[in-house]
Amino acid sequence: MTDTAATDAAATAATAAASARAAAPVPGPGTAGLAGPGAGRCAIVTGGGRGIGRATARELAARGWAVALFDLDPAGLDETARLIREAGGRAAGFAVDVSDEDAVAAGVAAAAAELGAPLVLVNNAGVLRDDFLFRATLDDWDLIMNVHLRGAFLMSRAVQRFMVEAGWGRIVNLSSTSALGNAGQSNYSAAKAGIQGLTKTLALELGKFGITANAVAPGFIATDMTRATAARQGITFEELAERVSAATAVRRMGDPADIAHAIAFFVAEESSFVSGQVLYVSGGPNA
Ligand code: NAP
Repeated sequence: MTDTAATDAAATAATAAASARAAAPVPGPGTAGLAGPGAGRCAIVTGGGRGIGRATARELAARGWAVALFDLDPAGLDETARLIREAGGRAAGFAVDVSDEDAVAAGVAAAAAELGAPLVLVNNAGVLRDDFLFRATLDDWDLIMNVHLRGAFLMSRAVQRFMVEAGWGRIVNLSSTSALGNAGQSNYSAAKAGIQGLTKTLALELGKFGITANAVAPGFIATDMTRATAARQGITFEELAERVSAATAVRRMGDPADIAHAIAFFVAEESSFVSGQVLYVSGGPNA
């Protein structure tokens, strides 16, 4: 075959594949023929009991997904589920430590049984244990690696089989601007950089099954996590917010909804050609 013939054949095959994709039923929410939006399938949001996880769960529920909330804190789970139901959505909470292999397996099975096959996974659960290297402890290192990296690995591995079976899936992982390095966060920076490598590898391995994997890397977002940072630094949250805003191009700190919208972009059906990317959402070009 000549180069031109090979190119033409490839173009024809690509066009045929694109037409087949367009004609195929999309398993995302809102598909015609479903009993309701998102019926029979769900989105799992880890760390959904508060902060960015809660905002993301509410955003996905508003877009028609039944949301399974995984968190350690039952009160936070109840409150997020209540807010979603109040707005007319479907949600259920599951007390799951994402770093515990058995708990993850049981939680994913329970979520699938109650809300349908998980076709969206947002690996958002997180903790901070900041300190400078000379004071940093091995216990804190292990905790950070376990929650962020081991958790994202265990959850992705447990959920991917549902996505592979459906031929459709979305994994969105929470990285951070700290992945680029941040004094006092050797453990967290390393974990958040690791999340980016995991994301790109998931994109490569799972792409052929119609699954995308992307990461959102937030800057400074107003949550309990950053309130704790202010307390640790011995300043009020308002003082910290002022400092952060002055150093941010858009002159404000982020809101959990800012991150939820970025996550929803990656989850959308229209984003099926976006995979393996890291989107910095930090109010400007600098981390
Ligand atoms: P947050 O308010 O502290 O919420 C984190 C949630 O994760 C909490 O509900 C927490 O539960 C839960 N969690 C912790 N360990 C868990 C575990 N082992 N299993 C299940 N759930 C667990 O934090 P956030 O600010 O919303 O942050 C969410 C994500 O964004 C994190 O991955 C964080 O690293 C990332 N991020 C945040 C910022 C920011 O400025 N806020 C910036 C960059 C990246 P408990 O309440 O029981 O502890």
